[in-house]
Amino acid sequence: MAEPQVSELMVRSIVVGVFAENCWIIGSRKTREGIVIDPGDQPQEILALAKDMGVNIKVIANSHAHIDHILGVRGVQEATGAKFLLHPQELEIARGAAQAAAGLLGRPVEPPPEPDALLADGDEVEVAGVKLKVIHTPGHTPGSLSFYSEGMLFCGDTLFRGSIGRTDLQGGDYGQEMASIVDRLMALPDDTIVLPGHMQETKIGIERETNPFVLEELSRRRSE
Ligand SMILES: [Zn+2]
Ligand SMILES: [Zn+2]
Repeated sequence: MAEPQVSELMVRSIVVGVFAENCWIIGSRKTREGIVIDPGDQPQEILALAKDMGVNIKVIANSHAHIDHILGVRGVQEATGAKFLLHPQELEIARGAAQAAAGLLGRPVEPPPEPDALLADGDEVEVAGVKLKVIHTPGHTPGSLSFYSEGMLFCGDTLFRGSIGRTDLQGGDYGQEMASIVDRLMALPDDTIVLPGHMQETKIGIERETNPFVLEELSRRRSE
């Protein structure tokens, strides 16, 4: 019998903020360096999770800049000195986040920091022992990104279990969203574990077979 493959990666999540957003920490068992995806709020709780994992956060990579994904960036960065990475087409949303948050949450919030570097499709986000491949998946927002590593996909608000991200917000585009999901994400192997920005995980194969939005898009394409 083959040895079970033990990954060097540790992956844990924490649900933060009033929008119940999934923040992910991916760390290396060997090097103890790690990446945070989407620190949406409650930076102290995210830092406590990193400490519990024994991981030093070196990079903050955001799937997009909606307030439920970005409000914890400042606190995590101030505590760790981590580099903050974002797609350039999210800058407008990021710069409006403090104002949007004040309106939606009814409390003043500090604006998120400017990114330290910008991400593009095909880039790799890397710390010692952890490497994420960047996939540009516009549609929910223009600069929405998904991150892939070792059979795991962190897809922000692009794809959900049995659903997809809203496309009726600033910069949203349903056609782009479906192209991102069907052409890019559905190109991944069926057993890829999908770890979205909200709600439970799923797999690419499950969504290919049961997600009503994916099924409708595939049938629309067949009839063209
Ligand atoms: Zn969003
Ligand atoms: Zn969200």
